[in-house]
This record gives sequence, C-alpha cells and structure tokens, in this order.
Amino acid sequence: MRIAALQCNFEEGQTLAVADRWKQIGFNVEQVFHPMADSYSALFDLKQHGALLEGYLARLKRNGLHSILYLNVHVLGPSLAHMKDDWAQRGADGGFPLFYDTYHPCCVNSPWRDHYFQVLRDLRPFDIDGVFLDGPVFIQDGCHCRHCRARYRREEGHRMGEKCGFAGFLPTESRRFPAGVLPPLQADQAARDSLHEHGCHAPDRLVPAAAGCAGL
Ligand SMILES: [Zn+2]
Repeated sequence: MRIAALQCNFEEGQTLAVADRWKQIGFNVEQVFHPMADSYSALFDLKQHGALLEGYLARLKRNGLHSILYLNVHVLGPSLAHMKDDWAQRGADGGFPLFYDTYHPCCVNSPWRDHYFQVLRDLRPFDIDGVFLDGPVFIQDGCHCRHCRARYRREEGHRMGEKCGFAGFLPTESRRFPAGVLPPLQADQAARDSLHEHGCHAPDRLVPAAAGCAGL
C-alpha cells in the first residue's frame, strides 16, 4: 500500500487533477484531506464540500486508488474557531490553551461531539474505503471545561480534583470515542446489527484501521 496525502488546498480549481497526479507518481491509496481543507486542518462540511468530494472520490476510483478520509478530531479549524467558548478544551485555570500555537483543541465532551457525529452521518452516502481519525487529543492535565466537569462528576461521583486528577478519565475516552465512530458511518441497519453482533470491526466498505489516534 502506497499512501499519498496533501494536507492543504492551494490547487486553485485543480483539485480533481490531484487524483491523476497520484496515479502518475505510483500511489494506490490517498488519505483524502485537501478537498475538505480548512487552512491546515480539515473537516467535512456537506454543503461546502459534498459535490467536490463526490467528484474527487470518483476520480480517485477511475485512477485505481482507494480512499481513506481524513477527519480531524483534535482542533477547531478556522471555520469553527468562533465556537471556541463552548467547544474548546480549557485548562484548570480556566484558560484556553492552543495546539501548534494556533488552533484551539476541541473537547469531545462538548456539543462539538454532536456536530462531529452529524458529519459522520452526512458521509454515509459517499463511496469511501476508510476513515482516519486525527485524534482525540487532550491537553496536559486534561480538559476542565464545564462539559468535562459535569461528565466527570456524573461518572466518578465527585468533583474533578477532589480525590484524584483527570488521569483515569483520559484513556477511557481515548478508547470510547473511536469505538463510537463506525456506527454513524454505516449505511443500513444490517451493517449496524453486524457491528453489534461481532464487535467493533469494519464493515465491508471500510478498512479495518478505521479509527486512528494522533499525538502531538
Ligand atoms: Zn472539556
């Protein structure tokens, strides 16, 4: 497997031609990022990217390439930056730390999660072979936003910081979030039933490594 990736979009209307170029160079898979680029981040938006992605996936297929869709799970890109106050991770001091000195890290326990899972449902009709989750990633000492504090108290029975730190909460969520990603992507009930029956494996159209996790 030879995987290509282009993690920005400066093609100026020539996006579809990138798929031809991969074929010429000798790649047979693309981690598809640039048709949904949001500066140096990417997250699918049906209205903004739907038609382009459909055309691009068809062009990849015509060139004999498989597709693994890149899905950001760790920052709020420029188009979502205005949601910072409710969707971004917060430090214990209440501040808003940055990743890469640029982007606010998104919090998987905030309503960003609902937005993300709608993105997954929107992707159901698209002919993709797999997805790559770039995250989730947590800030050092864990997120202390109001959504995390509420969930922590609900699940642990005491307030964050009263008995222990955030440490036990993080690996749990790092496993739980990717495990929840496949069902919304699946097109029909039979596939979802199969998932529940056999555990968290990939349906026919998705590659087994459907859930990835990035570090910083
Ligand atoms: Zn949080």
